[in-house]
Amino acid sequence: MKFVSRAEWGAQPPRQPWAYVAATQGVKVHYEGTEVPTGVLNDHGLCAGRVRDIQAAHMADTTQGWIDVAYNYLICVHSYVFEGRGLHHETGANGNQPLNLAHYAVCGMIGNSGITQPTDDLLTGLRDAIELLRQEGGAGPEIKGHRDGYATDCPGDPLYAWVQAGAPRPGGGSVASGGGGGTSAPPWPGEYLRLQQPLLHDGNVRTWQQRMADRGWPLTVDGWYGAQSKAVCEQFQQDSTAHGWLLTVDGVVGEQTWNAAWQRPVS
Ligand SMILES: [Zn+2]
Ligand SMILES: [Zn+2]
Repeated sequence: MKFVSRAEWGAQPPRQPWAYVAATQGVKVHYEGTEVPTGVLNDHGLCAGRVRDIQAAHMADTTQGWIDVAYNYLICVHSYVFEGRGLHHETGANGNQPLNLAHYAVCGMIGNSGITQPTDDLLTGLRDAIELLRQEGGAGPEIKGHRDGYATDCPGDPLYAWVQAGAPRPGGGSVASGGGGGTSAPPWPGEYLRLQQPLLHDGNVRTWQQRMADRGWPLTVDGWYGAQSKAVCEQFQQDSTAHGWLLTVDGVVGEQTWNAAWQRPVS
């Protein structure tokens, strides 16, 4: 799971302590319900700022009187799980207090214009958040939409269709583990990331680029393994070797270079 803690996205503290919930019947799925600009699709760098904006809007809503962002987690189209109220805290998003005590709330960061279709990455992140709430937050087996039991369009027809289909994890596969630090390496995809012509857009390249950008390397996160990615890879391999992580300096992301990107402490 790609987890972004409140500290990492720059959350404001809640206005009051959150109300504790020991367990819920399950989770309700939401969406933003406004325009989500399509430019976000290719720029995860925008996502933390968008989460900060959602929190600010919620805390400024005098009708609702929210003490914090209303959701337990918010999931961006790049599969990152942003921590909202988190585990064992009552959501404010489901419509009224009985509904808020009955289910947690997770928000898929798509809208009713611009980005309206969930990406596979978004659905993967939603599954990760739901499983985290089940494993550590006492969430029961139900997965519903905001519109179940409350008059709203939320979470929009495409996401609601996924909920009604049983909220399947894209491509099947196993549960991503780890809920805390976000530094455990995702499994090496089994694909060597290298400069090739023509350049091919690749989700694994994007994952590695994002990790390297998070480590502070000057890199455009665009899924294309071009000259910039190759140069960063070679410099990282040289730098790692100088720090005792012996990597072949070849500008190719194989299993050891992939794992080092997550496991080597950022120095
Ligand atoms: Zn909603
Ligand atoms: Zn994102």
